Amino acid sequence: MNIGFIGLGIMGTPMAANLVRAGHTVVGYDVSERRLDELVSYGGKAAGSLAEAVAQAHVVITMLPDSPQVEEVVFGSAGLLEYGAPGLLHIDMSTIRPETSRRVAQAATVKGIRAIDAPVSGGERGAVDGTLSIMVGGRAEDVESARDVLGVLGTTIVHVGPSGAGQTVKAANQLVVGGIYGLVAEAIVLLEASGVDPAAGLDVLAGGLAGSRILELKRHSMIKREFAPGFRIDLHDKDMGIIIAAAREAGVALPLTGVVAQLIAAARAQGHGSLDHSALLKVIERINA
Ligand code: NAD
Repeated sequence: MNIGFIGLGIMGTPMAANLVRAGHTVVGYDVSERRLDELVSYGGKAAGSLAEAVAQAHVVITMLPDSPQVEEVVFGSAGLLEYGAPGLLHIDMSTIRPETSRRVAQAATVKGIRAIDAPVSGGERGAVDGTLSIMVGGRAEDVESARDVLGVLGTTIVHVGPSGAGQTVKAANQLVVGGIYGLVAEAIVLLEASGVDPAAGLDVLAGGLAGSRILELKRHSMIKREFAPGFRIDLHDKDMGIIIAAAREAGVALPLTGVVAQLIAAARAQGHGSLDHSALLKVIERINA
């Protein structure tokens, strides 16, 4: 299969590398040339332009920061709708607004291109290991035709509804993840302020009802204050905006999400935007300093 892969960042590069290992021809494009070199070192091909990555592809995967970049790649004059062959399958795995996914799918259909939204959870580790959780929105037949490719990237692949539904589930995921990070940060601050070893404390929490994948994977780095991303605070801040817009559209109030959104905004305002989102701990510490 010829796969065009657009957006070779923290997530995109290991995902594209897994597709190369699975035997696909992967032609990558990123606005940063450094990223292209990395893909080539894994056996992929570097496209000189977006159009080149799209033109010969049976499948195009996008893994971009936010809605404006996806819109540019899809609707731009050098983009997917212009250069994609009829019958092409576009799998957008970025986290963007559900409304943008619906617009992309509608416009693609007019051009004979099939488009699904398939955002992911599992972080850089999941991208490297090919164990992502993938929440897919779109027409059933299009989702079925994406399963082989998605199966290389993830282990939990669920068709959750029509176009945009994958993004709504991802919004729910980010709401839970942000909340858990905030609470783990508060647990560390409480334990340390009380003179209890946080490592011992969180080991017990990880084995009990409070246990979670976040505690399992991130408690040691949080206690050591190692905040290299991973998933950047500024991307989680973007996601909180998506969640709040989705809640407004659905007509529901999410009070705890509001608090978490403000904590993440504070982390960004304090200059931590390029750190991992576990750096929420810095905000809770500063409140208590
Ligand atoms: P990243 O910033 O590391 O990567 C994004 C890449 O897109 C960069 O290499 C950038 O140069 C490239 N790019 C930007 N605009 C472009 C354009 N117009 N054309 C081509 N390339 C362009 O981000 P990431 O952490 O890999 O995240 C990508 C997406 O996945 C985001 O939507 C994020 O919310 C989501 N996500 C990230 C994680 C994570 O743990 N990092 C986990 C799940 C989901």
